[in-house]
Amino acid sequence: MEILKAIRGFDDILLEEAKKFRVITNTFRNLFEVYNFEEIILPIVEYKELFDRSVGEITDIVQKEMFVFEDKSHRVLALRPEGTAGVVRAIVEHGLLYKHPTLKLFYEGSMFRYERPQTGRKRQFNQIGAEVFGVEDPIADFETIKLCFEAFNKLSIDIILEINSIGCPKCRPKYKEALVNYLHSIGGLCEDCNVRKEKNPLRVLDCKVETCKELIKEAPVMLDYLCEECDTHYKSLKTYLKEFNIPYIENPRLVRGLDYYTKTVFEFIKDGLTVLAGGRYDYLVESLRGPHTPAVGFAAGIERIMLYINEIPQKPLYALVYLEEAKIYALKLANSLRQDGLKVEIITRGTNLKKKLEIANKIGASYTIIIGPEEIRKNVYILKDMNKKEQKEIPFSFS
Ligand SMILES: [Zn+2]
Ligand SMILES: [Zn+2]
Repeated sequence: MEILKAIRGFDDILLEEAKKFRVITNTFRNLFEVYNFEEIILPIVEYKELFDRSVGEITDIVQKEMFVFEDKSHRVLALRPEGTAGVVRAIVEHGLLYKHPTLKLFYEGSMFRYERPQTGRKRQFNQIGAEVFGVEDPIADFETIKLCFEAFNKLSIDIILEINSIGCPKCRPKYKEALVNYLHSIGGLCEDCNVRKEKNPLRVLDCKVETCKELIKEAPVMLDYLCEECDTHYKSLKTYLKEFNIPYIENPRLVRGLDYYTKTVFEFIKDGLTVLAGGRYDYLVESLRGPHTPAVGFAAGIERIMLYINEIPQKPLYALVYLEEAKIYALKLANSLRQDGLKVEIITRGTNLKKKLEIANKIGASYTIIIGPEEIRKNVYILKDMNKKEQKEIPFSFS
């Protein structure tokens, strides 16, 4: 019988990779702590309708990439393709915005999209993200970007920040009109864009097809159409970024296709790949029947960031080697060292001292601790530095 394998696109995250994963999430979590975010832990399965209404029926995510299924009671459910919809559903359902006029939440977890599996793109992948609800001021946009910038700094990843403003329901219609006029004046858009230009023209701007990219270079840009409020908001954000020496590139083709997105959009990009995307969405909460609540947030792809994590500093490992007569003392010694915060592995295999030392070497121990009846009698253990090949006796009480 053949061994069972994981499903394609649903990958195991093993050993060193799991360490990288945790380094990333811990980095963000430490920042969430000092920025005073609270965690929200959400279900993986929601009604499909939630994503139709929030992510939007005419996006690729909802049209092509969602894992949708019917359960035994014929309810149409979906594995969540992203985190924001669930967060907003939860805070509206539980009325949290009435108790907390500003609410800062972060989440971490698996998301699911039916995409062609490739490097950094899995069908089950993990995101860590955050949302700030109730702050209209661009300071919220700035702080969100600042937090992300700090995270990449701490992870020693050189990254490019791109920003743009996509306006608001007051100023965007005029821009859309200009864009649609332009799109109708040209030919040669891809099949998807020909649909988008009628239903969701902004999405044409971030089409990945080369011919479309060329054609939209000449398209009108939103920044020329911002109303005074949006313009002031965007300028303030840029002032704060400059004040804190956060480098950014203005990319007028950076968009989000849905009407509830407003003003700021941003992406952190590495080697042409978006590893973190965020922006302001002042109308999403009310589109899901909550009170009008300005909001800004982001989501980072953990697997994509993992591609850029190299070395992870490790705590030195202490291998504990004992002679059979000293077994119980070995357990006590290991316990005592672990209480002091040391990383200790008791070597249980190997028939003699030489074999045990070989095993200690093989598992990458920085130090080996040796104890036998002689050491117990003298109230010491032997500490051997595996790199320097030196050893010394350390006093220890075995009582
Ligand atoms: Zn505006
Ligand atoms: Zn296109």
